Amino acid sequence: MSTAQLHTGYQAELADFRVTFSRGGAYTAIVLVLLGVGLDYAQYPQLLTSFTAARLFVSLLIGGIVILLGSTVGRRFAPWLTLSWLLLPQIMISWMIWRTDGVLSPYFMGLNLAIFASGIALPFGLWQNLVFGVLSCGLYLAACLLHPGGIASTGTMTVNALLLLFAAAASAVYTFFNERIRFSLFRLKAEVSEKNGELEAINRKLLDIKGQLLQQEKMAAIGTLSAGLLHEVNNPVNFCLMAIEVALEEPAAKAEPVLQECLVDAKQGMQRIQHIVADLKTFAYRKADAEAEAKTPFLFERALDSALRLIGHELRGVAVVRELPPDTLVQGDEAAIVGVLINLFSNAALAMRKAGTAEPAIRIAARWEEHRLHVTVRDNGPGIADEHLARVFEPFFTTRDVGQGLGLGLSISYAVIERHGGLLYAESELGSWAAFSFDLSRAT
Ligand code: ADP
Repeated sequence: MSTAQLHTGYQAELADFRVTFSRGGAYTAIVLVLLGVGLDYAQYPQLLTSFTAARLFVSLLIGGIVILLGSTVGRRFAPWLTLSWLLLPQIMISWMIWRTDGVLSPYFMGLNLAIFASGIALPFGLWQNLVFGVLSCGLYLAACLLHPGGIASTGTMTVNALLLLFAAAASAVYTFFNERIRFSLFRLKAEVSEKNGELEAINRKLLDIKGQLLQQEKMAAIGTLSAGLLHEVNNPVNFCLMAIEVALEEPAAKAEPVLQECLVDAKQGMQRIQHIVADLKTFAYRKADAEAEAKTPFLFERALDSALRLIGHELRGVAVVRELPPDTLVQGDEAAIVGVLINLFSNAALAMRKAGTAEPAIRIAARWEEHRLHVTVRDNGPGIADEHLARVFEPFFTTRDVGQGLGLGLSISYAVIERHGGLLYAESELGSWAAFSFDLSRAT
């Protein structure tokens, strides 16, 4: 955080602090001004009525300023409003000094008390404090000089005026250091919250990396499993298919429609197994594939066009928005990337249709970042629940009805992007949107 930012933040925080303290101080002032009736009673009983009226009037004015301080405008001008209510008792005391004994009035102590209190209790700035002190001194001098009975003692008046100025200087110095301490505390607080923010960012990154590592580990395990499965399943499936083909050619099968139908069903079942096994190949030979990563340059924009054309029928009624940079020359296996896009579009279209999204839309955005094209496919469908988000790339994970989806699309897409040296990941807000992002290398 820069010093300028720190100052702005500090001023904002100080503004709240000032308003709170100013109001607290104003309430105290009202109480003290009213309690002063006791002093009037003891010192000037003959003036009790007019002094009490003055005290009530000043208390009401201070009360009005307190109300103003609660408004937005009041908050903006809080330091000046504070100065105003502080001056009200000073004016009242000076008037009382003028009305009574002038220089000899003991009420001059009241002026001093207010100056000290403003320095200690109110979060005033250095200048405001000095202005307040000098104005109080000016009021005192005016009260003495204009006193109808004249100046009883010039020496006492000078001493009292100087004492007022000393009080102002002392409270200004006190304010100055107070302000510095407050600023240091604020800086410390800002630094701690900044460090906390950094720690949170690191934590999030670590969680991300952990998630990616887990995903990679899972994929590696699936790879080993698939390789074994391929080996074990491929041969028997091929035998079976061959056997079924032979059986289908047999005159007995041709003559018996029920038998023929059974054999055709068996053949279809076997072919389905063959397709699944073919999909699993993507996981089984990931290492070898990764090494032989295709480096053919192609325009991502063209791949996107192909995918949108091929999936056109499923995207009917869906608004498709594209935000691509002018140059999208990447490298890799164009057909595989088209496959990934088709899978993402088809998933999005299906999710939106199933959820009955009112204005279904898919946005494809791409941007270059350090020699890689980052692509995001986002839909405004139902989104993905948190507990599913971590599992969508798992092979055979599906929320579709039995027989509707194999749950292999995203896991195959993940492996394809991984083969291209990138990462496919999902983000979502349940009920609002789902986004799948991946990155491809710029053509060299
Ligand atoms: P399948 O489509 O066969 O279910 P996938 O691996 O392609 O398999 O997707 C796995 C699951 O991820 C889907 O069943 C669905 O629950 C979820 N999914 C994928 N894309 C989206 C999307 N755009 N919106 C909501 N859910 C999605």
